[in-house]
Amino acid sequence: MQHIIDRFISYVIIDTESDANSETTPSTTKQWDLAHKLVEELKNIGMQDVTIDDKSYIMATLPSNVEHEVPTIGFISHFDTSPDFCGANIKPQIVPNYDGKDIVLNADKNIVLSPSYFKDLLLYKGQTLITTDGTTLLGADDKAGITEIVTAMEFLINNPEIKHGKIRVGFTPDEEIGRGAHHFDVAKFGADWAYTMDGSQVGELEYENFNAAGAKVTFKGKSVHPGYAKGKMINSMLIANDFINELPHGETPQETKGYEGFFHVHHLTGSIEETVLELIIRDHNKKKFEKRKELIEKITRKINKKFAKQFGEDIVTAEIKDQYYNMKEKVLPVKHIVDIAEKAMKEIGIKPLIKPIRGGTDGSQLSYKGLPCPNIFAGGHNFHGKYEYVPAESMQKAVEVIVKIAELTAIENSARK
Ligand SMILES: [Zn+2]
Repeated sequence: MQHIIDRFISYVIIDTESDANSETTPSTTKQWDLAHKLVEELKNIGMQDVTIDDKSYIMATLPSNVEHEVPTIGFISHFDTSPDFCGANIKPQIVPNYDGKDIVLNADKNIVLSPSYFKDLLLYKGQTLITTDGTTLLGADDKAGITEIVTAMEFLINNPEIKHGKIRVGFTPDEEIGRGAHHFDVAKFGADWAYTMDGSQVGELEYENFNAAGAKVTFKGKSVHPGYAKGKMINSMLIANDFINELPHGETPQETKGYEGFFHVHHLTGSIEETVLELIIRDHNKKKFEKRKELIEKITRKINKKFAKQFGEDIVTAEIKDQYYNMKEKVLPVKHIVDIAEKAMKEIGIKPLIKPIRGGTDGSQLSYKGLPCPNIFAGGHNFHGKYEYVPAESMQKAVEVIVKIAELTAIENSARK
């Protein structure tokens, strides 16, 4: 266990925060620091064909050790951390044999990780927790995933009696800013399917995510002296307000769960002359997703019609852009890749928690690029903030899942392409 903890800590102390405002890949040069270290480490443990491209995408191979033909599988994680919270000067704290009580992360600032608020903590009584010092995020998202993949590969290399097919490993930059899959060379990776190790709680296995779009709605107005405004002024902020009121009530992120979709207004800036409203649209169901986009167009037309005479031209314009799609469509035709992961968990005594993701993963983009890619737990909780933590035992379990998936895939009769 100490080995996995040491490896994890050696990754999280390297700052790899990504930056959505940068146009380069990787978005921050500091991501190279960990990328170069990972390349060396993959070579040191005996991985073959270790490559890093000019955008810092890392790939490596563990060759098959069986005679018969076996599908090539891949395991993928990202090495950047979220720009939502400080990712520099991370000082991990180890809490051995967790007693189920409050954990003081930072006495000076009175920052406490408490099971009365974060109930998940109670799942890990008696285990070794790795937490922050209350001033940064931890980076278990997704350096836990990288730790698990490297450790599993090392284990397979050191235990050649465990039979497996060819395994490909991929580490990416910039997942947290939605670009992890953008420059991922699926053909070069050359796997039949893969798994991202990027989920949370032990047992999580995900192959359904949202269909996603973003909309930018611009409202034009007419500014006139308020004393003489009757019948003349058009206040674009009030029209934006009307627009928001036309959205179905109760369908916001804070009022929905499970398979329920939503509209999420996340940005609004305005003056009388112009107001810009930005929202995201999410739905697991493709038809409902299309309906939601149509509704934006419909409301736009309705308002334009109302002001057509007074304004002379369209007062509202809506630009809608698709962002990503539900991977279910690409994974269901090869459902055995989920079944193998589920079976692997059951065989090592983990209860699979299969549930729809209320978001997207790199795997959803990769699935549409031709690499079906469900998501498996990496073990951490409370991502993107100071309460982030990961139990070392959960990382160990993830290592076992990777090894078991490799084993099951190599068993001839489950080796369907
Ligand atoms: Zn992640």
